[in-house]
Amino acid sequence: MLHTPVATLPPMPVQRRRARRLIAELRILRTAMNELSAFVYAKDLAGRYIFANRAMHALYRAAPNEVIGADDSRFWDIPGSRAIWRNDRRVIEGGVRLETEEHLAMPGADTRTYFSVKTPVRDARGRITGVAGISTDITHFKRLESELREKNALLESVLENVDACIYTKDRARRYTYANAKMAAVVGRTPGELIGRTDEELVSAEVAADWRVLDDAVFETGETQSGEEISTTPEGERRHFWVVQIPQRNAQGDVVSLLGISTDFTEFYRLKEELARQATTDELTGVRNRRSLLETARQEFSRANRYGLPMAMLMLDIDYFKRINDGFGHDVGDKVLKAVAEACRRELRDSDVLGRIGGEEFGVLLPNTDIEGAAAVAERLRVRIDGLVLSGDWGEDIRPKVSVGVACMQGAGRVETVLKHADEAMYAAKAAGRNRVHVARGEECRPTQLQDG
Ligand code: GH3
Ligand code: MG
Ligand code: MG
Repeated sequence: MLHTPVATLPPMPVQRRRARRLIAELRILRTAMNELSAFVYAKDLAGRYIFANRAMHALYRAAPNEVIGADDSRFWDIPGSRAIWRNDRRVIEGGVRLETEEHLAMPGADTRTYFSVKTPVRDARGRITGVAGISTDITHFKRLESELREKNALLESVLENVDACIYTKDRARRYTYANAKMAAVVGRTPGELIGRTDEELVSAEVAADWRVLDDAVFETGETQSGEEISTTPEGERRHFWVVQIPQRNAQGDVVSLLGISTDFTEFYRLKEELARQATTDELTGVRNRRSLLETARQEFSRANRYGLPMAMLMLDIDYFKRINDGFGHDVGDKVLKAVAEACRRELRDSDVLGRIGGEEFGVLLPNTDIEGAAAVAERLRVRIDGLVLSGDWGEDIRPKVSVGVACMQGAGRVETVLKHADEAMYAAKAAGRNRVHVARGEECRPTQLQDG
């Protein structure tokens, strides 16, 4: 059998191999483009489609053969297709790449926004034969962006007009935001606060006060509230009610705090004034009965706890009725004020003076034993004995007082000591007035000063 040579294929020409590879590549590209949600297209010099990906067919609700050869006036409303053509022409005539937003509507549909990148298509000789482009529908993002912008504007307007200081601080207690009102409190502009701590902005006293809540927020990771003070550049003390809320990152760590602080100085002063009125005797300015007794109760329980002595004086103006009857109630009031003032001058800051009734005063002497109390009582009596009130009522008035002294050491009830002081005061009256009498009781050791 004759040897027959095996038929061999002629070698594939290089061009054909390249063409095949190109076709394969084109297929891949076309598939990829069809998978894109972006719109990919190419048009000739007259604006007629020579390529459109699947997303475009879907957008135009048209078959591929209905798109190819058609121009944009077929799919968009008139202003839209004109706008597209203007952009396409800039690319074709200028030979430039163009990035632009296109606001387009299909007939009867809402305007949508597309972000388009368009570039000239050239032939092998470099001549422009059309335009290719890729467009993305960014309507949703634009809407979000404008919503965000509106919300920011609203927030900004609230932050700048609300009657409160609003700020954020990082863990190093540096301001990361401050509204105008907050900045005004420290006499700066908002920008000057950013990156600074309170220590760099306000007095050491105020900074220390503000630090307390900050530390509590970062230590506990919980919302804190409380009162804070500040001083104006004119030195006026202002009071704030402050709420501070921890701010967390995605991992849940407290990274900053949001502070809202409102100036309630007027309310604070009103509160203080009401508290003062509730504890003060209107006529003489010393404490009223209720306040004196309340303080006495607190001081007695403290004295009992520590085994300290505690004394009480009861002081009654002698023959006060005669002053009233002889010179009138107004003059009587003047005498009451003068006696209260004389006592106030004689007493120490830790002593508590109060008006118990009409012309009767009580004095609480903390940490004072019976000898000390008797000495104070005598000093008061002497000072009042020296008072001379003169005025248009004629005759000078020289008020006198009788004083009862009682004391307890380590154990005793307020009521008991008050009763003993009262009894001692009546004893002083009975003994002739203008004198001091020291109560004799279990709580008190007798003193040489007894019976005035
Ligand atoms: P004694 O030496 O025994 O204490 O005599 P007295 O006249 O001071 O005692 P009495 O209790 O009889 O009189 C107290 C008077 O104080 C009677 C009352 O009208 C008067 N009085 C009470 N409150 C006031 C007041 O607020 N202003 C004035 N001017 N008088 C008052
Ligand atoms: Mg009296
Ligand atoms: Mg009296």
